[in-house]
Amino acid sequence: MIRRLLAALGPEDARPVRRLLALLVAAAVLQGLAFALLVPLLRALLGPDPRDAWAPLGWFALATAAFLAITFHAQNEGFRTGARVARQLHHVLGEAIVTLPLGWFAGGRSGELTRVAGQSVLQVMSLPAHQLRPLVTAVVTPATVLVALLVIDWRVGLAVAVAVPVLLVVLRVGNDLLARSDRGRDAVIHEAAARVIEFARAQPVLRAFGATTDGNRVLDDALVAQRDADRRMIGLAVPGLVSFAFGVRVVFTAALALAVQLALTGSLDPATAIAVIVLVARFTETIGTGAEIGASLRMSGNALTRITDVLDTPPLPEPARPRRPESYEVEFAGVGFGYRADAPVLRDVSFTLPERGLTALVGPSGAGKTTVARLLARFADVDTGAVRIGGVDVREIAADDLMGLVASVFQDVYLFEGTLADNVRLGRPDASADDLDRVGRLAGLIQVVEELPAGWDTRVGEGGATLSGGQRQRVSIARALLKDAPIVVLDEATAALDPENDAAIGAAVTELATRATVLVIAHRLQTVQAAEKILVLRHGVVAEQGRHTELLAAGGTYAEFWERRTHAAGWRLVPTTEEKR
Ligand code: ADP
Repeated sequence: MIRRLLAALGPEDARPVRRLLALLVAAAVLQGLAFALLVPLLRALLGPDPRDAWAPLGWFALATAAFLAITFHAQNEGFRTGARVARQLHHVLGEAIVTLPLGWFAGGRSGELTRVAGQSVLQVMSLPAHQLRPLVTAVVTPATVLVALLVIDWRVGLAVAVAVPVLLVVLRVGNDLLARSDRGRDAVIHEAAARVIEFARAQPVLRAFGATTDGNRVLDDALVAQRDADRRMIGLAVPGLVSFAFGVRVVFTAALALAVQLALTGSLDPATAIAVIVLVARFTETIGTGAEIGASLRMSGNALTRITDVLDTPPLPEPARPRRPESYEVEFAGVGFGYRADAPVLRDVSFTLPERGLTALVGPSGAGKTTVARLLARFADVDTGAVRIGGVDVREIAADDLMGLVASVFQDVYLFEGTLADNVRLGRPDASADDLDRVGRLAGLIQVVEELPAGWDTRVGEGGATLSGGQRQRVSIARALLKDAPIVVLDEATAALDPENDAAIGAAVTELATRATVLVIAHRLQTVQAAEKILVLRHGVVAEQGRHTELLAAGGTYAEFWERRTHAAGWRLVPTTEEKR
């Protein structure tokens, strides 16, 4: 585990941890030595002339003072190193996050990242700050005492040395039992926490349907599973812990009996026998502390695994010789892709998006429309086939260049803590106030700005908490307009379609299509009708493609889709909200 930590920290920040380790080993050796010096001290005290005890007492005092001084220093150093480890882990995590494939974040992973950067880093930080000292003490001090024992009386020393591997096996078995119970427990706890949050968030829905009093079966099941996992862990942990403590006591008793036996037969003088017993007691006491920190060590190990999992996620490979596309038509050629190997989402998707044209992507929910949009922005790499821009495979375009080429407006718009202007300027940091007004007008954001007392300087709160979903999406569209990228991918979020937003999106799409290659995941019938090309995605392939009138005439999937949509629209009381769903 230490080696994994050192590897995660990098060479420079691994040095203080190594220094700390050296200090702790020195302190533990000195502690063992101080224990060993008890032997000449006791021998002298119990010998014919107690005044002989002064010299060994001096040595004992010296070793103890050195041990205390180094331990004090190591303790401070441990806290300092812990803080440094936390800082460095945050740093390497930060560096890793910006190179993670964007697809990594798509599966609700932001919560996981919060846990890794918070809880896991704190847990690993406690390794140098709190756990390393007892761990080193539990290994090095008994080892030093054992060497001393072998020197003082090889028979007792040998007996204890033989017992060590047995104790290690007992410890190992106990730890394995614990690890087995721990394995599933982590996932169960995670699931229960997620269900509790879901239960809290879903309160308005649950109350509206009167589903609060009967309990929530999914939540109940998750909590019962957590209780069972806890019980299982206790059932397995207790025998594991008790067996080691029992083994340590057996060793102590056996060594005690041996020393007494040797003293009785006269082959060990009584003073040495007492000193040896004291040493054996110190040995068993220090080795026993190791088992006590086992649980927290294991938690640190798990936390470290969660961190290294993020650090070890490979970034999407960068091209050795990057190319820049000269034109901006987009081509999907036989694209196959799945988030998991056993569940392909796209099987053989082929189409082209005309340069500076509007293409609408339609299809049933779950057909893979968002996935197509993600692949175009290289959130992940395709499994088969290729995505090309101007004839150049996106995998051959440098990540920075690609990011400059594609602007995405997805449903889950995140706004940063800051002003409205800051958030729109993400699209182009050097944009002037006039530019902001222009894109604000196009995206329908200007109405929002004008209604706010602080206008563009209104702070939006973390995640854009003070704005509605539709308003957040308009900020995102304004960003994309400001970025002026040659390719734009836009998801017309159904949830955010109120009349005002509807008009804003319509205007923005029309504007964008005059200067960029635009792919819209379309929910508005106007967009679909206005599109130069419509792609109908179904069962992992493009089932139909063409213009509205052609597809309608063909009488296939699209005609059915249109029929259903317009039929549904007929039921609307207010025509402008017809595409709300
Ligand atoms: P659409 O946008 O057409 O509704 P999506 O592209 O969002 O469809 O999803 C297509 C399929 O891929 C669905 O079955 C969905 O469950 C799955 N999927 C989408 N995103 C992820 C993800 N991040 N991890 C795993 N599966 C995903």
